[in-house]
Amino acid sequence: AKRAGRGRFRVFEDGMDAALRDRRELEIDLRRALALKQFSLHYQPFIDLQTERTIGFEALIRWDHPVRGRVTPADFIPLAEETGLISKIGEWVLRTACATATTWPDEMSVAVNVSPVQFKSDNLIETIVSALAHSGLPAHRLEIEITEGALLEDTSNVLKTLHALRDLGIRISMDDFGTGYSSLSYLQKFPFNKIKIDRSFVQGADEGGDNEAILKAIAGLGLSLGMAITAEGVETPEQLARIRGEQCTHVQGYFTGRPMPADGIATFLQA
Ligand code: C2E
Ligand code: CA
Ligand code: CA
Ligand code: CA
Repeated sequence: AKRAGRGRFRVFEDGMDAALRDRRELEIDLRRALALKQFSLHYQPFIDLQTERTIGFEALIRWDHPVRGRVTPADFIPLAEETGLISKIGEWVLRTACATATTWPDEMSVAVNVSPVQFKSDNLIETIVSALAHSGLPAHRLEIEITEGALLEDTSNVLKTLHALRDLGIRISMDDFGTGYSSLSYLQKFPFNKIKIDRSFVQGADEGGDNEAILKAIAGLGLSLGMAITAEGVETPEQLARIRGEQCTHVQGYFTGRPMPADGIATFLQA
């Protein structure tokens, strides 16, 4: 009975360890991923609703692991943030995205996601300036996307960073607006050029009701403050028709273009 008990205990203990061990192994793999060139960027077009033209692409990171297969950002960005690896990864994203954008038509921008951890780091501006200088991309063709997590606490430092970016001519987007802690007062307090309305409101607006009211309110306030409004996650012609009626200025979603590798962009733009 004693042995069986020990056996059971070990199984139980192994079960507890498994999650930790998985995380530890993922971290080890993540540490090596940059050097092993396992990251790539995909680019998703965003479209100006007035002219119906593609005016830029958002860079979205992909991790192709030889054994795990493709690991989605949702499964490794949080770990990268917890371990501090996000700084190096974020720097690689900025450099790669800026360099790639120089191969696009002059009027097209590249939007880069900057994690709250990276946004608060001391060398963010330096990293961005260096990525622009190395690539030769003009600052006005770079958009930085931040989520509200970057805005919490330490308002004066946040404002300093946002103004430094704007002084350089870089545009700033508030990503995923309407989720999490975001408050309408952020739109007044911080100098954004663009608000990206989270897809939950865009997709939910199909049925009318609360989501539609929220979409209207955000778009109305943003526009009155002089900001562009992107509707995220538009997947159907019905959703596109609806957001046209809601004063959105830009659209981004599977319906107008899925994320694609850099070498697919020329073909996409010709179509
Ligand atoms: P996000 O910044 O909100 O990016 C948009 C996400 O929605 C992307 O997922 C995109 O593929 C997906 N998407 C676009 N259109 C549609 C649509 O019509 N329907 C649906 N269902 N989804 C759509 P992805 O690429 O998996 O990225 C997830 C999140 O990971 C991003 O959300 C962003 O927060 C983060 N992320 C991605 N790349 C980077 C990066 O380079 N750096 C940082 N810090 N975060 C990144
Ligand atoms: Ca984004
Ligand atoms: Ca978003
Ligand atoms: Ca998101």
